[in-house]
Amino acid sequence: MSSDKMYDLIGVGVGPFNLSMAALLEDHPEVDALFFEQRSSFDWHPGMLIEGTKMQVPFIADLVTMANPKSHYSFLNYINEQGRMYPFYFLQRLDIPRREYNDYCQWVAKQINACQFSSRVDDVRYIEDNETYFELNVIDTETGDKSVYKTKHILLGTGSSPVMPDSFDRLPKEDVFHTAHFKDHLERCRTARSITVIGSGQSAAEAFRELLKEQREHKFRLDWITRSPGFASMEESKLSLEHFSPDYVDYFYNLPQSKKDEVFATQGLYYKGISTHTVTDIYDLLYEYSVGGEVLDVGLQVLTEVDGIHQKAEGEGYEIACTHHQEGTSFIHETEVVITATGYKPYVPAFINSLQDLIQWDDQGRYKVKADYRVEKTKEVKNEIYVHSGISHTHGVGSTNLGLAVHRNKMIINHLLDKEAYPIPDQNVFQNFKPQS
Ligand SMILES: Cc1cc2nc3c(=O)[nH]c(=O)nc-3n(C[C@H](O)[C@H](O)[C@H](O)COP(=O)(O)OP(=O)(O)OC[C@H]3O[C@@H](n4cnc5c(N)ncnc54)[C@H](O)[C@@H]3O)c2cc1C
Repeated sequence: MSSDKMYDLIGVGVGPFNLSMAALLEDHPEVDALFFEQRSSFDWHPGMLIEGTKMQVPFIADLVTMANPKSHYSFLNYINEQGRMYPFYFLQRLDIPRREYNDYCQWVAKQINACQFSSRVDDVRYIEDNETYFELNVIDTETGDKSVYKTKHILLGTGSSPVMPDSFDRLPKEDVFHTAHFKDHLERCRTARSITVIGSGQSAAEAFRELLKEQREHKFRLDWITRSPGFASMEESKLSLEHFSPDYVDYFYNLPQSKKDEVFATQGLYYKGISTHTVTDIYDLLYEYSVGGEVLDVGLQVLTEVDGIHQKAEGEGYEIACTHHQEGTSFIHETEVVITATGYKPYVPAFINSLQDLIQWDDQGRYKVKADYRVEKTKEVKNEIYVHSGISHTHGVGSTNLGLAVHRNKMIINHLLDKEAYPIPDQNVFQNFKPQS
């Protein structure tokens, strides 16, 4: 199917970032927008929607409130429409369950016709004819049908993809998998004789905690290995959280690129560590289990680099080659199931290569991005590529944080409408990141 209709904006991917844009644009009907998502419905990191896990941002970082607290799509209105005002009031928490955030986003997505699911954007081309525009090839993931759409501007919201070491990726998926697929394999874990979690970020800790809760019932050996010197907590003090503010984004953006890369490399604990409450839960469980001198069939091993993995005979499990990097000793760790919590990387779809000549790239092959989230182009054209994804190198540590998505969308909408539809305050936090003149 082909249509001659020219959209103002087409968003690729419907995760929270583009869903926020779709919700905000309901207040701006003059922008004719469409959003494509390859999944059959909205689903937020489904493999990690573990019961008992909670959001790492307050519910105020919903899809709209930071731009328009009166929006129909606010989290509080969702709670109201679910008839849950009193339970939420008595809950007395800002950090809502992760499952509820997903349910809230699904509630929003179902109401917005501009979000089209089961639709994968396969290619984007820049057309310079009588008029200039982007042409998108879209595949219906259920029927395989192909369609072509035209738009003046595009918005990339394709999120991130799990990172798995190559040697692990080639092994049977039911035994060796990334935390992104944790829930899909929980049943398999319950039948295993031994399980090893590798990594020490929030996802590793959540998977370990969930397995620890079940360890005595299902009687598997449970190990947790990390190369870090400890199972460190995430930096969550209130003044540290100010690094996830528009002010810090602005400060970071204006540093030279080499300085940005240097600074970003030192900021792991702002987003890579473990939430204090998760560490506490784990410690409390270990303490409880060890009452009366019980010897736990559980191991926590720090300072240990995983060098490789070898599959033993069919059904016999795996040998993981490890090095204790301070002592310099090597050893083999045996296990039946391996869960890698080795993080995520920005997912920039391959089709962006079709726009190779239009985009300015830095010396590391990353696109250059303007302060207002437009990709820098090689020539003056009126069509824009706005980006939510793959911008940590330009906009810093808060780029994947839900608390900044609405701010970003406010700036993009202001640019799209060529007016200040949303004021952008200069000072939002108490501390100064640059010297005051
Ligand atoms: C387990 C987990 C928990 C997290 N918790 C928090 C938290 O509590 N607080 C916080 O601030 N951040 C959190 N994050 C960080 C994360 O960046 C955000 O949660 C959020 O998902 C980012 O939204 P997004 O819209 O960029 O991407 P995603 O949610 O990844 O969505 C991108 C979407 O694009 C779709 N897509 C990709 N390519 C195409 C294509 N070619 N065509 C059509 N569709 C496509 C994908 O199917 C996907 O649905 C968490 C991350 C993880 C992994």
